Amino acid sequence: MKELLIATKNKGKVREIADLLLPTGIQVTSLLDHPGMPDIVEDGTTFRANAAKKAVVIAQHTGLLVMGEDSGLEVDALGGRPGVYSARYSGEHATDETNNDLLLKELQGVPQEKRTARYRSAIALADKDACVDVVDGSCEGIIATERRGTHGFGYDPLFIVPSYQKTFGELDLAVKQTMSHRAQALRKFLKLLENYLVRTEKG
Ligand code: IMP
Repeated sequence: MKELLIATKNKGKVREIADLLLPTGIQVTSLLDHPGMPDIVEDGTTFRANAAKKAVVIAQHTGLLVMGEDSGLEVDALGGRPGVYSARYSGEHATDETNNDLLLKELQGVPQEKRTARYRSAIALADKDACVDVVDGSCEGIIATERRGTHGFGYDPLFIVPSYQKTFGELDLAVKQTMSHRAQALRKFLKLLENYLVRTEKG
């Protein structure tokens, strides 16, 4: 069985990615299964650049087929912040808790109609030689005025999905998987991976 290593230690991401790759029969592993990998400095200014860097660094180090995923939240009232800095929004030792606290603080007094935001995800495929390609996805939402629900990770308790009027924190994973930024990027990634495997297994 082919192994695909996801270049992340984020358990929330791994759960969502592994769930959507389950039907493919590919063996999904992550950096949690591969300790001692080089640190990846996320210094790109775009999700695509960071996703490619994660995939290439780990693919070169291991020789394996690697997926790099970079994602984040763009809030319109904050001029698109935190964006590529979503994981580190509240500082070097940021946690989901402190990030959500800061987001609520920065949006204090901002009315509902101006609390628009979107999640973005970029997913790259790399082998030991190069970055094969990068695909992406996005998902529109509204930032709540208080946390709601315990599902998901990151900003999910604050991210209202307009069609459900519920946050991703309140919705089951199965619902998030039908519409999230990551799920949309992953659907494109599956085609990319399929083409890559056909090409490389032939030649
Ligand atoms: P990175 O891609 O590892 O740099 O971090 C992405 C960060 O964006 C996460 O740590 C979360 O804070 C946020 N994020 C990305 N995708 C999601 C999601 O699906 N739900 C909630 N937060 C997310």
